[in-house]
Amino acid sequence: MGERNKKILLEQLQLPKNKLCSDCNAEGPEWASSNIGVFMCVNCSGIHRMLGTHVSRVKSCRLDQWADEAVQFMCENGNESVNVVLERHVPIYYRKPVPTDPQAYKEHFIHAKYERKEFATPGGCAHYETGMKEGMLWKRGKDGKQFKQRRFVLNMDEGTLKYFVKPDAKEPKQIINLTTLSTSLAPDKINHPHGLQLAFMNDNLTRQIYLYADEAKDAVDWYIVLRASSFHLIRKSYPQLSDAEVLRRLNSHQRKQGWMEKTGPKLTEPYRKRWFSLENRRLLYFEKPLDPYPRGEIYLGSRSEGYMVRDGLPAGQTEHGFGITITTPYRDYLLCCEDKEEQKSWINEIKSITTQPLTDQDNAGVSQA
Ligand SMILES: [Zn+2]
Repeated sequence: MGERNKKILLEQLQLPKNKLCSDCNAEGPEWASSNIGVFMCVNCSGIHRMLGTHVSRVKSCRLDQWADEAVQFMCENGNESVNVVLERHVPIYYRKPVPTDPQAYKEHFIHAKYERKEFATPGGCAHYETGMKEGMLWKRGKDGKQFKQRRFVLNMDEGTLKYFVKPDAKEPKQIINLTTLSTSLAPDKINHPHGLQLAFMNDNLTRQIYLYADEAKDAVDWYIVLRASSFHLIRKSYPQLSDAEVLRRLNSHQRKQGWMEKTGPKLTEPYRKRWFSLENRRLLYFEKPLDPYPRGEIYLGSRSEGYMVRDGLPAGQTEHGFGITITTPYRDYLLCCEDKEEQKSWINEIKSITTQPLTDQDNAGVSQA
């Protein structure tokens, strides 16, 4: 009896509709919620346990005993049909978790999906879209490593996110234009599970701010609310962009980051190690990964305007590591990677940008010098 039920469940796991974790799309789920009817990975099963058995009853398909009716229920439901209902109204700006996402983000999603059922009804996510949010976050100081508490105020009517040094200060320390903002959650370099990174344009330079929240839920709430606000504002400001293009802008943050070496404008200058970060159409380089301002940036236009990337250094240059040459209408940039794999991966990322035609948003407010 037990063996037969296990066999049926393992067959269910082989079906295309159940092959990925119901909540994070990890491959090969082996756990299940016997009252909801979904299969999930071991990591998400741990989060389901935290919901309590009144919401989700977690069982292993391999290790636990299953009653006939429960197996029958799993066969009748499964990930695809349950998700059609519970994820029907996931908003376009909301990003469903992937296996590499921080734990806090997966927890937030699973609570929202099963406990609060935010995605099952049309207005379920309205609280992310009020365009107002205010609260205290820890912000990394410009020079030191210290984080200090700052008051952040989002106002979508104004199109701004501001922060204030003193809780009762009248004048903000910084005003961030939400249409230039991209936010990422728990980036490795902050080394905090509730970390946030904001990148935005300030006087035509890309600036980074590093933050963390005391509570995981608060960090994720900020992340989603900022994404929702930026999405709606970009949509409104650039009606000709498709939803996919707006999303690409929101997700463009940190396409790739890492150390490379770079020569100065006179190509004979010695190579210097710099931290590179690819943000939308800009390849920024920093002296150190957490610096608020880059030392400089390489704007990446399209191939038809004369922007190109190739492996190797120009003839006559001394070989140095694994070289990359970026050609722009203004000058050549010579970069070097430590190994061939990095070289290939940077070239592919940069090429994917230069082969893309410019959108209106790329041109808006962006100097191309
Ligand atoms: Zn999962």
